[in-house]
Amino acid sequence: MAGGLPLHALPAAALRDRIASREVSAEEAARHFLDRIARLDGGIGAFLRVDAEGALRSARASDARLDAGGAPRPLEGVPVAVKDNLNVEGLPTTCASRILEGFVAPRDATAVARLRAAGAVILGKTNLDEFAMGSSTENSAFGPTRNPRDPSRVPGGSSGGSAAAVAAGFAPLALGSDTGGSIRQPAALCGILGLKPTYGRVSRSGLVAFGSSLDQVGPLCRTAADAALALSVIAGRDPMDATSLALEAPAASLAEGGLRGMRVGVVKEHLEGEGLEPAVKAAVEAAVGVLRAGGAEVREVSLPRSGDGIAVYYLVATSEASSNLARFDGVRYGLRVEGRDLAGMYEETRDRGFGTEVKRRILLGTFALSAGYADAYYQRALRVRRLIADDLDRAFREVDVLVGPTAPTVAFPLGEKIEDPLAMYLCDVFAVTANLAGIPAVSVPCGADPAGLPAGFQVMAPALREDAALRAAAAVEAAGLLPAALPGAFA
Ligand code: GLN
Repeated sequence: MAGGLPLHALPAAALRDRIASREVSAEEAARHFLDRIARLDGGIGAFLRVDAEGALRSARASDARLDAGGAPRPLEGVPVAVKDNLNVEGLPTTCASRILEGFVAPRDATAVARLRAAGAVILGKTNLDEFAMGSSTENSAFGPTRNPRDPSRVPGGSSGGSAAAVAAGFAPLALGSDTGGSIRQPAALCGILGLKPTYGRVSRSGLVAFGSSLDQVGPLCRTAADAALALSVIAGRDPMDATSLALEAPAASLAEGGLRGMRVGVVKEHLEGEGLEPAVKAAVEAAVGVLRAGGAEVREVSLPRSGDGIAVYYLVATSEASSNLARFDGVRYGLRVEGRDLAGMYEETRDRGFGTEVKRRILLGTFALSAGYADAYYQRALRVRRLIADDLDRAFREVDVLVGPTAPTVAFPLGEKIEDPLAMYLCDVFAVTANLAGIPAVSVPCGADPAGLPAGFQVMAPALREDAALRAAAAVEAAGLLPAALPGAFA
């Protein structure tokens, strides 16, 4: 194959250029990825649904467009995997839940529609924790996804299928959603890059709502440049989402520009926390060293309210989830289990349709919002959420980006945390800050433990400063702290 690297090892931008220059056809590219998925996804379980026919149809349309002399679009012919809580017209949206059985999306989510309009080829739908609740993809009603770096371990979650798909070379780009770390944590555990954009950057229309004040759609990919390219395509005002910001989408060159004059704050509480594995800490320190050596001005910064993040997140997210998930009652969507009367039908449907973790969240959220407790829990959580955001505002007066580990550990064995919800919740102890404050954050690989399991470096930036986060991530990426090679069968 021209240029050395096989198609599945190329970043999205490079693959697009090969297709645009007609070195390879979009159809050949689509077939290459579909073949890989057919051969190798049995051992990984990244996809819940592969749409080979739809992918080939849209790849041929790309080729026909280029044959006719049409200008190549920003993602012309680039195969993309989509988390199965985002609607793709004509395909089931399952949210990895039984309760959506039989539901077929009537239209594309806005982010998906924008990908298509930019020439992307939608390969299929990826596995997730049910309704995006979890950090390991073990909460899927359809079985877990495995980590391509070590299939005895989890890929992280909840966008574990999207992260595994990119890490295994099944797609150069995937969409995920991030409510409290669900793009960044699986990116970290699978050794790829993930971006949670500023709240409001990307339309949430067509994303099944979990915590509406926290949810954002974003890319998982291999390079900061690809994340910038994807963001430039999916971002922008959408009349279908009143919280989407009336701003132009940022430029595809967002990750360029280097570290010139960049002030970097290392979050003290994130590096001193209990439960941070020594290998992860060492990898993060190496990344900080890269930034310093690259000319950034590095200092330590304190976020005193960091320790409250998880408690606040698990009150706000569960409260919003209990309200959002009320719509799954057997009437409008998916599964219906008949009962003795209407209330019985609701009960039977929800009892059979939802898994254990989703039920736990609904119960927690309903309790936190209930009369008599809403002041003590939900309202109080909102006040502390404000204080956490204030900490960040203060820190960003002194520095341009805040850095630390994305997650406290490398990928853990399947089954290790599934009986211990609190241990699972703590996977996102560093990630939830960005969601609570609505700011952008990137996870970029920064090394591995002695067994070769990847560690993630988190870069947070002020609202709308994805450029700063991506520039810092690009510098860490360029240092090559994690060997890029796909291991074993995934080479
Ligand atoms: N792991 C966190 C949770 O279980 C975050 C999930 C997410 O970002 N969707 O809620």
